[in-house]
Amino acid sequence: MSKTWRPATQLVHGGSLRSQYGETSEAIYLTQGFVYDSAEAAEARFKGETEGYIYARYGSPTNDMFEKRMCALEGAEEARATASGMAAVAAAILCQVKAGDHIVAARALFGSCRWVVETLAPRYGIECTLVDGRHLENWEKAIRPNTKVFFLESPTNPTLEVVDIEGVAKLANQIGAKVVVDNVFATPIFQKPLELGAHIVVYSATKHIDGQGRSLGGVILSDKEWVTEHLQDYYRHTGPAMSPFTAWTLLKGLETLPLRVKQQTENASKIADFLADQPKVAKIIYPGRKDHPQADIVARQMKGGSTLVAIELKGGKEAAFALQNALEIVKISNNLGDAKSLITHPATTTHKNLTDEARAELGISGGTVRLSAGIEDTDDLIEDFAQALAKVNS
Ligand SMILES: *Cc1c(COP(=O)(O)O)cnc(C)c1O
Repeated sequence: MSKTWRPATQLVHGGSLRSQYGETSEAIYLTQGFVYDSAEAAEARFKGETEGYIYARYGSPTNDMFEKRMCALEGAEEARATASGMAAVAAAILCQVKAGDHIVAARALFGSCRWVVETLAPRYGIECTLVDGRHLENWEKAIRPNTKVFFLESPTNPTLEVVDIEGVAKLANQIGAKVVVDNVFATPIFQKPLELGAHIVVYSATKHIDGQGRSLGGVILSDKEWVTEHLQDYYRHTGPAMSPFTAWTLLKGLETLPLRVKQQTENASKIADFLADQPKVAKIIYPGRKDHPQADIVARQMKGGSTLVAIELKGGKEAAFALQNALEIVKISNNLGDAKSLITHPATTTHKNLTDEARAELGISGGTVRLSAGIEDTDDLIEDFAQALAKVNS
């Protein structure tokens, strides 16, 4: 496999393992186990003396293709595919900590990610400090002698704040801690956390990587040393493995990822510009616009804007609901990264379990809606927003 291929080429050909039949599309190997030519061959495989598969919970050919293609895209040495994004996040964090260790995490995290570090980890004696991740000094102040992991998401859900990944990685390296980045919102097309100094990258492949609403999946990427030392045994023995059928779906998703992300980003950026000028809109937060509160960091660490837009309506919850209900093409859904444009009201759905105070800290109000732009025609989407906004009283 050529290392010099650019991403669009890697995403179509990277990692392919063609069988003796010469199939064009990758094969789906739906098998739990593997057979050996002899007892000696089985012994050698188990001793690690020969290359090959042992059991699908450890690894299997279709998953291998997906993992290798993700490695090629991300510039990682090793990857492990998981059944969901949350299986990836939980494994990436829990495989490397033990009772008495300390995690520092940005407080603006996807809800289930926040639960893993804030609620689950302390049950096993792992301490966690949540910080406002926008300011580097907060990360520095939270460091303790037992800090082992920094965990962040950038841009964040739903208000699209960003964290200076390079800055956090420098702090982590000073104390020998590892930085785990949940790169879902940025997509692997627009942000390369490993190049910025992060040690581990995780994805919910459910989002842009599938991008067509079909399957749940996740992936963890890092260097060979970290995977061998921390992840490998955890992954083999706790069983978060992805189904080979899902891996195949995601291989197809990766082929069109750059095309979809490009169109989604173009739609998101044009809708953001259109909405920013509307009198019923109080504020737009869009990485890629000059008025993004951290435009300097966006310019430094992201290669493109975002497929998501945070919209703050002047009329509060009533206006947010009226807008969502009046949209015809854009569907109401808490999912994101899909070919279909989706809109959600975080305060009453994805972020309803937070206290009012925690929501306010994250900048989520009754008037906040999050748009995930799809690949539809840009003008149709803008016309949909125009007709829906006309129906909002304020
Ligand atoms: C969706 C999502 C997850 C969880 O992924 P699942 O595939 O739903 O388990 C984690 N982090 C972020 C940022 C997400 O958007």
